[in-house]
Amino acid sequence: MPERDAVHEAGKVHSGTASRTMVDEIRRQNLRQVLLLAHRSGPLSRAELTRATGLNRSTIGGLVAELQERGLVHAHAATPTRKVGRPSAAVSASTQTVAIAVNPEVDTIDVALVSLGGRVVHRVRYANDHIPTPAEFVNIVGAIIEGMRPDQLGLRSVGVGLAIPGLVREADGRVLLAPHLDWRDVPVAAMLEAKIGLPVVGANDANCGILAEVAFGAASGTGVIVYLNGGASGIGSGIVIDGQLIRGSGGHAGEFGHTLVNSMGSSCHCGAVGCLETEVRLDRLIAAAGARPSTAAEMNALVSDAWHHPQSACGRELHRQLPYLATAFRTIINALNPVQLVLGGYLAAILLAAGETALTDRIGPSLPGAREEVSLAATQLGDGLLLIGAAELVFAPLVDDPASQQRVDGAIASNLESRPALKL
Ligand SMILES: [Zn+2]
Repeated sequence: MPERDAVHEAGKVHSGTASRTMVDEIRRQNLRQVLLLAHRSGPLSRAELTRATGLNRSTIGGLVAELQERGLVHAHAATPTRKVGRPSAAVSASTQTVAIAVNPEVDTIDVALVSLGGRVVHRVRYANDHIPTPAEFVNIVGAIIEGMRPDQLGLRSVGVGLAIPGLVREADGRVLLAPHLDWRDVPVAAMLEAKIGLPVVGANDANCGILAEVAFGAASGTGVIVYLNGGASGIGSGIVIDGQLIRGSGGHAGEFGHTLVNSMGSSCHCGAVGCLETEVRLDRLIAAAGARPSTAAEMNALVSDAWHHPQSACGRELHRQLPYLATAFRTIINALNPVQLVLGGYLAAILLAAGETALTDRIGPSLPGAREEVSLAATQLGDGLLLIGAAELVFAPLVDDPASQQRVDGAIASNLESRPALKL
């Protein structure tokens, strides 16, 4: 896009205050564009960046250099390829700039260092011996972060993101209600911030999951995409339209875990009866099986066994739940006409065991058109999904305005460049 380049290049000469402001804004937009590409799609060659942005090669070079100075990208030496022509140096998001991602659940507290580019570089899973109070949670997370010492690993922490199984006021990370943790109206983000001295942000865990899927996974396409995650604390969900999370007036939109699926069903903590998350639950399968899976692979095996043995206690329970799940799908499809339902956790395990056709066949009659257009997909980011999404909460303002990030001094920059990326 030559016109944009011309304005960017013009920034090197003196001009009036108004045009300097405009040039600065365009430079910030260009930095944002390049960092976003490196973050979500990297590594990319400079030629690919040139094609994707419409900016010329020298402008890309200047932007990459500035992002490097701010510790946000790496520019790797060119490596020979089988392609004809001169190899182009690859640009990727810095693996040394990290967010600390935290996901409290009833049975575990997950804490991870997640780098730009959505890579989990280090993870600690703390097993709760009881459901932690907010104060206990803050102390446990503080101790885990103290033990991780990201600074001594050559990593630069830019903040903490919390993925909370409950209603969270995103403006200040206050937990309004996390029913399974029994946290009510608690300023968890502020409490943790006071403990560790880093900025802390928080959001509903399902919203974190969908942010991660939008950035790196199955929900990166356009159109209406609905995400449903079956976790230890029930079913979280979210709606994305053309890459934008629909938050609703107060940030609580898309709570499909509480859509009515069984008017004769169990009481829900929300006060209603027969919600999706009271009727479709992994713990009922676990009770029937008499064994609790401790890994995602074990959960998948349990659900698969139940699917293939419908006469077993576990199988009967799974097949009892399926019509309720299908009812929720029908409600969502009729209400939103989504192009895709992305399923995580327990629900992804059901999809993997049963297959898409078996599940869509159970949806039954729905309005013409919408049902034919929807596909079901399992999350692509595995059990790091919520942590990657919690990190996205931290990275979002940084990626939105890379120029706000301080330059890294030479010694630190050199140290960061020379350290190998950590393995999980
Ligand atoms: Zn409910």
